[in-house]
Amino acid sequence: MSSVLGTSERPLRVAIVGSGPSGFYAAQALLKSETKVSLDMFDRLPVPFGLVRYGVAPDHPKIKNVTIVYKKIAEQEGFSFFGNVNIGKDVSVEELKKFYDAILFTCGAETDRKLGIPGEDLTGSYTATEFVAWYNGHPDYKDRQFDLSGEVAVIIGQGNVAMDVCRILSKTVDELKSTDIAQHALDALAKSNIKEIHMIGRRGPVQAAFTPVEIREFGELANCAPVIDPKDLEISDVSQAELDDPKNAQRRKNFEILKSLSTHEKSGKNRQFIVHFLKSPVELTGDGVLEKIILEKNELSGEAGKQKARGTGVKEELKCNILFRSVGYRGQPIEGVPFREDWGIFPNEEGRITENDKVVPGLYTAGWIKRGPSGVIGTNKPDSEETVAALLADLGKLTPCEQPESNAISDFLNKKGIRFVSFDDWQKIDASEIERGQKIGKPREKYVSIEEMMSVL
Ligand code: NAP
Repeated sequence: MSSVLGTSERPLRVAIVGSGPSGFYAAQALLKSETKVSLDMFDRLPVPFGLVRYGVAPDHPKIKNVTIVYKKIAEQEGFSFFGNVNIGKDVSVEELKKFYDAILFTCGAETDRKLGIPGEDLTGSYTATEFVAWYNGHPDYKDRQFDLSGEVAVIIGQGNVAMDVCRILSKTVDELKSTDIAQHALDALAKSNIKEIHMIGRRGPVQAAFTPVEIREFGELANCAPVIDPKDLEISDVSQAELDDPKNAQRRKNFEILKSLSTHEKSGKNRQFIVHFLKSPVELTGDGVLEKIILEKNELSGEAGKQKARGTGVKEELKCNILFRSVGYRGQPIEGVPFREDWGIFPNEEGRITENDKVVPGLYTAGWIKRGPSGVIGTNKPDSEETVAALLADLGKLTPCEQPESNAISDFLNKKGIRFVSFDDWQKIDASEIERGQKIGKPREKYVSIEEMMSVL
C-alpha cells in the first residue's frame, strides 16, 4: 500500500465529530477536494443533523430544508455515518487517533452561558437551551417539566433563540400542531396559562440581536399581541448614527418593524408579547420557587457600534412565574482536546486546534466550537471550508494513522459492543418518523428516546 496520504491507494482518513451543519459542510469541502478522502462522521445520538434537528424552531420548517443537501453529501462515496457513538466517552480521542490521520471536531455549543446573578438556580428559572431541546424532542431533555400554570413568563436576551422561545410560548396549539414539535411539548403547551411573555434586552432597540423576519412574525400571531412602548424607540444621537450606518440595513429593518408593532392593536388577544429595552436582570427572588425578577435600568455608553449597557442604579420588579435565560450558548470540553474555559471553545488558528498557542498536529475544529455561537446555518459553510483548507495544506505533515483500513473502526466498535447507526439505518428511522407524523398531520413525529430510535432498526 502506498503511504502517500490522499491517494487512491491510501486515502486520507478523517474523522468528523458532530453531525450538525459545520460537520456536513466540512465533509462537503473534503469530498470536493482533489485529495482522495475517506471520512467517517460521528454523533453521540443515533440521528444526524445536530442543531438543525434539535435547535431550529419547529414552526420554521424551511430552515430545515438544508438537510436535503446534507443527505446528498452523506450519499457520496467516501462518507460514512457512525451515530450512537459518543467520542470522549464510548471512544477516547486517543483511541480514535489510531484510525484517522486527522480528527475534525464540529460538536457545536451544547450548553448555555450563565447570568451570574443571585437566584439564577431557583425552581422556575431555566435555560433556553433546555426548553428548546425539550420542545424539539431531544432525548436528553424529553423528561423535563416546565410549569406553565402561571401567567407571566420572562425571557432574558434578545437574540433569535430568545425569539424562538417567545414565539413558541406565544403561539396557540393550532399554530403549532402541524409542525414537528414533540408531542409532549404540544400537550404541555396546550395547557399553558401564560398570558404575558416579557422579553428583556440589556441594550436598546437598535442593538437588539434578533433579525427582521423573527420580530415581524409577532405582528401576525393568532392570539398574541405585541406590546412595545413607543418611548423606548426614542433613541440617542449615537444610536441614530448606528442606525444610519450603511452596514446596518438589518437593524434599520428591525427598527421599522418595532415602530409598526408599537402601534399594533392590543385588544381581542389573550396573550401579550412585551418587549423591554435597556434593562438587566440583577436578581431572581422567591421562596424556593421563582416569584419575582429585579431589573436594573441601563443607559448606553461608548461610541456608535460599540455601545455597552451600564446600570443606572434604578431598579424595578416584575412578577415572574417562569424564566428562560437566553444569553448565548457555550461549548463543552472533550477529554483529550484542549479547551478554552473562558470562551467555551476549542482554541484554534484557522481551524487548527492549538494548545498554549502551539498547533496540535492532526486535530482540527469548525463551527460554533471553533468560533463561538454566532451566525446562521450558512455561516458555517465558509467557516468549515477554512478549516478544511488548513487540514489539506497540512497533508504532508500529518502522521499516518496505525489502522487506515475503512473497516477497522467498525470492527473496533463491534468489539467494544457499541451498536453504531449507519446513514442507511438513520434513513429507516427517518422514514418511520415521517410515517408516524403523517398519520396526525405533522411532517414527522420524532422518536424522543434512544431506545425508541434503536427499536426501529
Ligand atoms: P445571540 O444572538 O448572541 O443573542 C444573545 C442575547 O443575549 C443578546 O441579546 C445579548 O445582548 C444577550 N445577553 C448576553 N449576555 C447577557 C447578559 N449577561 N445579560 C443580559 N443579556 C445578555 O445568541 P442566540 O440568541 O443564542 O443565538 C445564537 C446564534 O444562532 C445567533 O447568531 C442567532 O442569530 C442564531 N440563530 C438564528 C436563528 C434563525 O436564523 N432563525 C434562530 C436561532 C438562532 P447584547 O447584544 O447586549 O450582548
